[in-house]
Amino acid sequence: MSDQTRARPDLSVVIPVFNEEDNLQILYERLTSTLKDCGKTYEILFVEDGSTDASFDALKRLFEGDAAVRVIRFARNFGQQMAISAGFQHASGNAVVLLDADLQVAPEEIAKVVDKLREGYDIVYGVRTHRIDPLLRRVGSWCMSHLLYRITGIDVPDSATGFTALDRRFVESINLFNDKSKYLSGLFAWLSYGRYGEVPVAHAARRAGKSKYTLPQLIALGLNFICNFTMMPLRFAFYVGWVFALPSGAALLWLAATRLLGFEGADNDTWLIVLAIAFFAGVQLVSIGILGEYLGRVYREVREQPPFVVREVLDHEKSGAGD
Ligand code: UDP
Ligand code: MG
Repeated sequence: MSDQTRARPDLSVVIPVFNEEDNLQILYERLTSTLKDCGKTYEILFVEDGSTDASFDALKRLFEGDAAVRVIRFARNFGQQMAISAGFQHASGNAVVLLDADLQVAPEEIAKVVDKLREGYDIVYGVRTHRIDPLLRRVGSWCMSHLLYRITGIDVPDSATGFTALDRRFVESINLFNDKSKYLSGLFAWLSYGRYGEVPVAHAARRAGKSKYTLPQLIALGLNFICNFTMMPLRFAFYVGWVFALPSGAALLWLAATRLLGFEGADNDTWLIVLAIAFFAGVQLVSIGILGEYLGRVYREVREQPPFVVREVLDHEKSGAGD
């Protein structure tokens, strides 16, 4: 989808947008003045992820007033991961910077990550020196970073950061992956294989609006990561199954033998049996659930449903709207 005839700017800034109407104008102003100060050629790609507020109208106004702005509008909300993926597919810059719309990280920090990228990294993370997020989020992120390390062997600092600079070739590699359920931070770490840089950036509270992530959405994101990158849960179910099946099988044999040989059997403690059944039923349900997760993913891939649907594209280099 990336346009071959388009002049390649130094920088593409990709911004996923979901219900950010109160942040867009100020974001645009600060971003534009920073980019102008940098003295680089640039494009700003907003991916409007099916907002229900006036975000698209605000973006349209920005587009009409600035040739450097493009807007990709989704048909509905497909989530931040897909919005970023669409932005990557449309980005034509030599470097791509990923920025959230809520001004939690200041656009003025862009020069830092881009300069660092020029040292030859695939990817440079803006690392939050002092993270402003609820405790549960921070604990969740910490767990994910550790899991990421265990799975990929890559120790990504504060992996959930939305502020990142990526080399064009690296973005092209990311574009080759078209999973329907994505966890881009995992993909970045896995693919960069440790060729990453870090730059400290300040982190503030959202300028306006609320975080778009609910706990179930964060859990879904975590599951995307685990299922996309590892068979660990399946193996876990397999081993746990054996750990319980072997001793209980042996106990059953022992019980049957004592009965057959006419020895005094073990006490028939009803509660013990009830608990044991409940426990094994639980283990089985967990295992079935794990299987279901993978099966559901296979089903989704087999159906060949597109990961996102673009409703319209506002692009100065194309006559009409549409992709
Ligand atoms: N976002 C999006 N689609 C979604 C959820 C979020 O495009 O379904 C955008 C959102 O507008 C913001 C960025 O992704 O620009 C990060 O979202 P948010 O600030 O809510 O996440 P948090 O900072 O809480 O991780
Ligand atoms: Mg945010």
